[in-house]
Amino acid sequence: MEHMTSIAQLLCLSVEEELQKAENLSEVEQEIRRQMIEAGRQALATYLQKQRPKYPAVTTKCPHCGQEAGYVRLRAAKLHTMLGVVRYERPYYPVSYTHLTLPTKRIV
Ligand SMILES: [Zn+2]
Repeated sequence: MEHMTSIAQLLCLSVEEELQKAENLSEVEQEIRRQMIEAGRQALATYLQKQRPKYPAVTTKCPHCGQEAGYVRLRAAKLHTMLGVVRYERPYYPVSYTHLTLPTKRIV
């Protein structure tokens, strides 16, 4: 929980900086909420980027049809989450012209 105390202190500083002089408590609450959601969205994007293997496997087996798929490149991905739109990159393995697959160790 020490991390949460540090995060809360940083959040307080950021809210104070953003609001300069708040008119009322509701305004402060709304700004805290806005910044918490943004921090969560950025944390989720960072988490997803960290899950990406540094060196993607050369091939992977498609869980749908069993065919081997070769790694082509990293590809931009966009997720609509509870925290907003999160963008990250993930390995791209086209199986054929009809579909693609992702490595089997994945969370999204
Ligand atoms: Zn397939």
